[in-house]
Amino acid sequence: MSKTTLELPSARKPHSSFIPELVFFEPAALDYPKGQRIMEWVKETGIPYRMTTSHNRITNLPGNSELEQYKIAKRTLVVGIRKTLKFDQSKPSAEYAIPIATGCMGHCHYCYLQTTLGAKPYIRVYVNMDDIMDAAQSYIEERIPEITRFEAACTSDPVGLEPITGSLEELITFMADQEYGRLRFVTKFHYVDSLLSLKHNGHTRIRFSVNDKYVIKNFEPATSRFEERIEAAGKVARAGYPLGFIVAPIIWHEGWEEGYAELFSSLAEALPKDASSNLTFELIQHRFTKTAKNVIEKRYPKSKLEMEIEKRKYKWGRWGQGKYVYPDEQAYALRIFISERIFEHFPDAVIDYFT
Ligand code: SF4
Repeated sequence: MSKTTLELPSARKPHSSFIPELVFFEPAALDYPKGQRIMEWVKETGIPYRMTTSHNRITNLPGNSELEQYKIAKRTLVVGIRKTLKFDQSKPSAEYAIPIATGCMGHCHYCYLQTTLGAKPYIRVYVNMDDIMDAAQSYIEERIPEITRFEAACTSDPVGLEPITGSLEELITFMADQEYGRLRFVTKFHYVDSLLSLKHNGHTRIRFSVNDKYVIKNFEPATSRFEERIEAAGKVARAGYPLGFIVAPIIWHEGWEEGYAELFSSLAEALPKDASSNLTFELIQHRFTKTAKNVIEKRYPKSKLEMEIEKRKYKWGRWGQGKYVYPDEQAYALRIFISERIFEHFPDAVIDYFT
């Protein structure tokens, strides 16, 4: 395995965005400049840290109850080596998921990481970026002359962690030189400043996850505010990046029409006038599995998130258990209303999918 040979992302120090309460290091992570840089910051900032044999085996987290441990895990960072370099598929938005981090400090009630990460909700970041980029290079070469797209936000929110890792900076710069490779990621955070002056060649699409005020206020604690995300979207558009929005989860609630109408008119007001060209939207209605419902009810017992099985339609899953989505009539109403608002404000935009 090669160690990091690229220029490290500007000698920038992580700033006050997300400060973990506890950090674990795999000893081998300290052989890499990124691991050393994070250790330096941890010491300077005075964050307690421990060593661990494996980023997959963090068992001694403090906390007296499962809920308390969950909250602490969300503020625990683990710095390790990514050993599995076989990438998962990431349909429909990309061919592969590129693994640079796992876990997130956000507390979105509906987040699917709650079930997919199971007992490991702590945040893992990987320092062997050269290995990860070498693997991406092989995936790209296998598919030439087709373009291969990589999604960097399947298991995390990498923008939320960027001030600590600088990993997106490396990936964007790497992908700028890939004729047949493209990068994309989605975020609910606004820490994009370090990405604005990078050479990207239009090969990275940055998407912001947005929603109406009701959803953001009630279900997305510990993420950036709507205004911060939109301001960041404007900066990204002005820096020439292809821009996109994911509206997810689209939630049927009292006043949803006014809420979503307001969302798109505020987007149109805040974005630069020419942002409409090469703009994409991905629309995802709220869905949940029975397992997710159980987990969410335990972790966010006061949540207003509606998950009444009787009010939903069961959609069979291709692999494993199916999901509960809105009945066809409601899904259709959401889809039509939101699509119309999008084209009203952004006539040249493309809706990639509604699911
Ligand atoms: S920001 Fe994204 S990844 Fe993080 S908790 Fe919210 S939905 Fe999950």
